[in-house]
Amino acid sequence: MRIVVTGGAGFIGSHLSEALLKTEHEVVVLDDLSNGKKKYIAELEGHPRFRFVQGSILNRPLLKQLMNQCDVVYHLAAVLGVKNTVESPLKVIEGNIDGTRNILELAWEKQIKVVFASTSEIYGKNEKLPFTEESDRVLGPPQVHRWCYATAKAIDEHMCFAYADKGLPVTIIRFFNTYGPRQTSTQYGGVIPKFIVAALNNKDITVYGDGEQMRCFTYIHDTVRGIIPCMEPAFDKHAFNIGTTYRLTINDLAYKIKELTGSSSSIVHLPYELAYGPGYEDMKNRLPDISKAKLMLGYSPKVNIEQGLL
Ligand code: NAD
Repeated sequence: MRIVVTGGAGFIGSHLSEALLKTEHEVVVLDDLSNGKKKYIAELEGHPRFRFVQGSILNRPLLKQLMNQCDVVYHLAAVLGVKNTVESPLKVIEGNIDGTRNILELAWEKQIKVVFASTSEIYGKNEKLPFTEESDRVLGPPQVHRWCYATAKAIDEHMCFAYADKGLPVTIIRFFNTYGPRQTSTQYGGVIPKFIVAALNNKDITVYGDGEQMRCFTYIHDTVRGIIPCMEPAFDKHAFNIGTTYRLTINDLAYKIKELTGSSSSIVHLPYELAYGPGYEDMKNRLPDISKAKLMLGYSPKVNIEQGLL
């Protein structure tokens, strides 16, 4: 397969590209380096089946040229991060919706398979745990504070389903807090790198809120193993939760990182508002039901949090 990975110089995209190259695939990474880094794909440069193109998914002629030569697009490029969502909601909405529309319209012209990177945030403040894909199509705007990101991704999903209904091969992945090498503290779910940096420098580990919010952190290699099968036609028109079921509170995470690093840091609690502005309240619990991915994709996360942190 010839595969375009948008956002392929980013955290998840660079690991995915690496894994795809280990099989027979050809990989073209398209990334504007707004958040990604060339060093993440440095080891891939020079590989006979790899090419990096610096550019934006908003540059339609460029995107068309690349997509015309491919069979599959993993669409991971996105405007994300707390800074963008708090300070530039319009940039988040426009970048994510316009970009995905470009991908889908061009994919439609050539009937190219699209694998779209969505997020657990489209479930909003769902109190029914764990989150299941039961009704694949999430209705209405997600009621979360990072509404611009969640809403843009939800609209992207609706566009994906609309194209899938017309016959375009599309699969949606809903990521739940992926972590691992190359993740930076500015990124989505960047709480782990933030805590590690603080711990290694013996600085305060800052927990926002009471720290009892629960998350399931997924190691990057598990994430990648989960998303590679999604390019197969058998999974067209499906959405999959890709995460783990191992639950951890943010307090537990802070203590684990302090212990593993042997740090003398203090763990301090601050109100959300100090980081994210007035009225901010994070989702209390974000836990996936991954039975659909297990059953259909053969997905089985293997790395527990202690192994992943080491
Ligand atoms: P990332 O920021 O490392 O990767 C995104 C990449 O997209 C970056 O390299 C950035 O430079 C690039 N990019 C942004 N705008 C672009 C544009 N207009 N054109 C081309 N490239 C552009 O983030 P990530 O954590 O690797 O996330 C990858 C995808 O997974 C995103 O779509 C994100 O919304 C989704 N996601 C990630 C997580 C997670 O836990 N990391 C959770 C939920 C969803």
